[in-house]
Amino acid sequence: MAIALRQLASKLGFTESEMEKHILELGFEVTEEIEDDIAELIIDEVTGKGEKKDAAEVYEQMVEEEQEREIVKSQRKQTAGKPVFGKKKTVARVERATGIIEIPDSITVKELAEKTGASPAILIGALMKNGVLANINQQIDFDTAMIILDGTGIQIKKKRHEATAEDLFSGNLEKLLKEDDAGDLEVRPPVVCVMGHVDHGKTSLLDAIREANVVSTESGGITQHIGAYQVVKNGHKITFLDTPGHEAFTAMRARGARATDIAILVVAADDGVRPQTLEALNHAKEAGVPIIVAVNKIDRPGANFEKVKAELAGHGLQPEDWGGDTIMIPVSALKKEGIAELLESVLLVAEVQGLKANPHRPAVGTVIESHLDQGVGPVATILVNTGTLRVGDSFAIGKAHGRVKLMKDWSGKKLTTLLPSDTAQIAGLSEVVESGRILQVVKDDKTARGQANQVGGMIQDELVQTGMGMTEILQRIKEGSLKLLKVVIKADTQGSLEAIRNSLAKVKSEDVAIKIIHSGVGDITESDVMMAAASTGALVIGFRTEANSHVHRLAERMVVEVVTYDVIYHLIEDLTKILSGLLQPEFFEVELGKFEVIKVFFTGEKEMVVGGKITEGKLVNKAKLRVLRDGEKIGEGDLDALKLVNEDMHELEKGNECGVRYRGKVKLKPGDILEAWKLEKKMKTLLS
Ligand code: GDP
Repeated sequence: MAIALRQLASKLGFTESEMEKHILELGFEVTEEIEDDIAELIIDEVTGKGEKKDAAEVYEQMVEEEQEREIVKSQRKQTAGKPVFGKKKTVARVERATGIIEIPDSITVKELAEKTGASPAILIGALMKNGVLANINQQIDFDTAMIILDGTGIQIKKKRHEATAEDLFSGNLEKLLKEDDAGDLEVRPPVVCVMGHVDHGKTSLLDAIREANVVSTESGGITQHIGAYQVVKNGHKITFLDTPGHEAFTAMRARGARATDIAILVVAADDGVRPQTLEALNHAKEAGVPIIVAVNKIDRPGANFEKVKAELAGHGLQPEDWGGDTIMIPVSALKKEGIAELLESVLLVAEVQGLKANPHRPAVGTVIESHLDQGVGPVATILVNTGTLRVGDSFAIGKAHGRVKLMKDWSGKKLTTLLPSDTAQIAGLSEVVESGRILQVVKDDKTARGQANQVGGMIQDELVQTGMGMTEILQRIKEGSLKLLKVVIKADTQGSLEAIRNSLAKVKSEDVAIKIIHSGVGDITESDVMMAAASTGALVIGFRTEANSHVHRLAERMVVEVVTYDVIYHLIEDLTKILSGLLQPEFFEVELGKFEVIKVFFTGEKEMVVGGKITEGKLVNKAKLRVLRDGEKIGEGDLDALKLVNEDMHELEKGNECGVRYRGKVKLKPGDILEAWKLEKKMKTLLS
């Protein structure tokens, strides 16, 4: 219920503009219609019986009045339809929603009132008491709702999201991982990966750590390389990803996965910083993962710890004992020396990070490795990011789905539950999946199948890109949402690399800066492409160096722009154009397939649901449609949903009979043909 501002003004003997002034002074918005609760508050305030009351008093008074009103209301309810005479007065309690009520991250006062059964006036009053002058349509966040409901007996908790297929496909777990109530969060072990130059001892170090920290009875003697293992140090677990090298790390990151908490950079004490050391360093830095350096082979005659420290300092990693913040530990994987110190450092860094997750929810995990096992079929090593994974859980995992049949850790031990940061190989998948894909436990097998199908469609279609194509980069620059253009540069010689760096420093744009996230000498590799894909909006630039067809295919798949030059001037010219958003995209229509309408199920004003058959090519959800009748185009539309029986599909091939939700003006009839197409963008002048 609401009252017009004009009416309220006359009731109180004010002109409209005086009324507006009062309302503004009270901190409410001026609207033509004023909600009853607020009107009452205003009346109380401006009549005020001659004296100004503070917010707390107003609130107390409102609560009293509210309680009176509730009593009257409840009595009315009880007497409704019953004879009133002779009925004894009873005082009823205020009716409230019971149990713990789920509230989203943000909610209006009105919605909060509706959900909890608390009166809006009481909520507004409580907000006032806390120094917030709000109206009924004000959005408040969950924490504020918690504060103002404190003491009312109403219990709320944050509504939990389920990851959408897009989230799962793009590996976006942030929403999922952040939403848990602080009270549900528990400390979880750190997840560590080991990177560094080839032959510097990554594998030896991983083996040494495992051997030195295994409870022998657990292992059963046979160690299985499942891609991850866990050790216990000083009573704390540490999870190691057992596929050393930054390639695996970045391949996962390029799929959006954020599996690693800490990177151990292995540098041989007798060899120092080498190209892959720098590559690994840049990959970890770009991922924002803290680095601990293990200076390995310290037993070797040529070992020089101080020299390695100095080299690393020259590349931005300042040793702790020189006043920096990077822990550097001398170790010998061969002699098993320094391992304990290294693990203690890992625990120290983990403690500072404050790693937590909620074990009291269905699991969300990341695929570390997956292959076809001769005995049990497709298996995958899963790292649990949050929640608890149990035998019997139904899950979607990339384009696969299944139910956890069996869980085994690296020592071959069978497990029934996995907690956050735990890893195990699970069996029960419908097919092998790529590393970096996300597992989500869902309520049943059917939901799992549906979700897997959707994610599968996206994987096939690259609907959500990992990298960013030039069109998008340019668009974002124009919109002003991309302020930093990241580039990976590969050149033929150190000399030309320096020349490019110097020239790039001179490329100026007011709005967009260029950042070289990695540079090196040699051909463009898959790792360069993946690094660009993992860093939103990055280009790979080659100077007098090439990428082979394999690398190009990967770049295409990951939507990463790889461009090569022979003349520095051209490189600089193109980058200058990009920064000023001057390159233009061109659009192409791409035909997808044809669908014949057989039956009309539903006709709405601008939408219809029809059944029919795909006669050519394929149909893809959200495609554009041309409507043909007797071979003539009679209209256009959009494909709004694609259904097979009752399941939502992303894409269906020729031969399928399916349902289509069509949006458009033309009323479809049996026999009509829908031609599906999509628009693709390409750069006109770019660097070709
Ligand atoms: P990765 O390529 O980084 O995984 O390196 P590996 O672990 O395969 O080690 C490469 C070589 O260095 C092997 O021959 C190891 O035996 C040797 N190595 C590894 N760690 C040490 C060490 O601490 N001391 C010595 N002397 N040799 C080591």
